[in-house]
Amino acid sequence: MHHQVDGQSVSNSKPDQSTATTVVASGDNVAGGSRMVQQQSSSTNRKNFSLGKFSTVGSPVLCRALVAFGSRELPRICEVTVGVPLDGEVRVRMLCASICPTDTEAAVATEPSGFRFPCVLGHEGAGVVESVGPGVKSVKSGDYVIPCFLPFCGRCSLCKSGKTNLCDSGKQTTRLGLMQDGSTRFRLSGSDQQVFHFLGTSTLSEFSVIHEHHLAKVSKRAPPDRVCLLSCTVPCGLGAVFNTAQVVEGSTSAVFGLSLVGLAVIEALRLSNARRIIAIDIDDEKLSIARGWGATDCVNPGNCSGELPRVIQELSNGGVDYSFDCVGTSSVSRAALDCCHSGWGLATLVGCGGSTSSQLPFDQGQALSGKAWKGSIFGGYKSRAEIPVLVERYLSGEIMLNRFQVNRISLSSFAQGFSLVREGKCTAHQVVVFHQS
Ligand SMILES: [Zn+2]
Ligand SMILES: [Zn+2]
Repeated sequence: MHHQVDGQSVSNSKPDQSTATTVVASGDNVAGGSRMVQQQSSSTNRKNFSLGKFSTVGSPVLCRALVAFGSRELPRICEVTVGVPLDGEVRVRMLCASICPTDTEAAVATEPSGFRFPCVLGHEGAGVVESVGPGVKSVKSGDYVIPCFLPFCGRCSLCKSGKTNLCDSGKQTTRLGLMQDGSTRFRLSGSDQQVFHFLGTSTLSEFSVIHEHHLAKVSKRAPPDRVCLLSCTVPCGLGAVFNTAQVVEGSTSAVFGLSLVGLAVIEALRLSNARRIIAIDIDDEKLSIARGWGATDCVNPGNCSGELPRVIQELSNGGVDYSFDCVGTSSVSRAALDCCHSGWGLATLVGCGGSTSSQLPFDQGQALSGKAWKGSIFGGYKSRAEIPVLVERYLSGEIMLNRFQVNRISLSSFAQGFSLVREGKCTAHQVVVFHQS
């Protein structure tokens, strides 16, 4: 028997052993069947749950997660135990998780990249709160949540300044793959080896423990396989235009790189009534998609006769008012600045969750030209406070999230989604839907 939650079948089970302390999460397939990850007892009883009623509460949970081991090894699906949430923490049953380039880069990174291994990957997703630790006030069991790699505590000096979306919560621990008490909630099943967290979220797991400062509580009407896009890629693009650059009506913009973030930038420029939107990419297919999204001019640098910034300046009567670097290499960041109009042009560097070590080439003369670079992290959105508002704007039909293509895959077929994201050729979001085998 299964309960229907947003069209998905979910169930859970608990070993019928009074001595057993670990609860085994089941993986259900879309047809409604179910499969035990690990049979602990031949007399296992199945227990179902509906939202707000979980048989797993209070015990470590055994479930499947996508674990990266570093050293350029490919990530693997592993069984992990997920501990109970401690002070300020929330255990979330993930419903969906979308794969972002930051995950695929981290998956094959080495330790100096800033990530620690082994770690449970994933930082985009949507889920339901299974249980909360002591002191958690903002969410309760059964709430729908969107994990955000950027925290918002509302209490630190950054949050209280009102000038930034940066927050000090977990500053010393999150980048080390730890919860705020300095330990982890994941262990590899069998070996008892600790597994690190990833960007404070680790969404590519059937269950994850996440600090409440990283969780935006959203409407239960929100379809998880859509609103999971609002946990990184889409707000990074929309907010770069609305919050960081604050693009004004009738202006001219150039967008470098037509990844999913780049398309979100174009959508926001269209909503801002930009007069000219110049899309730049080396892939003609992506350029034609961008035109469908509202780009007025398309430039393939491979077909340019002159230098790219000069070509864009000629197209835009001396330079664009705004440019958006959605690629992140130093040469593109520099081109984004160079194509801006002297005196006021603003080049926004659109950042997602990853760490970067590239250096920006810059000469002092540029500083006096009146152009500027500005970094945008998470689109300038205060995650926990403002993502629920974006969800409402989506539900009311204002933000056209449905324009983004979504390719739904099971956790078992993550490799297919990973290679599409890594190749960068794909203009569809790869969304893992849990409880499919
Ligand atoms: Zn991301
Ligand atoms: Zn804060």
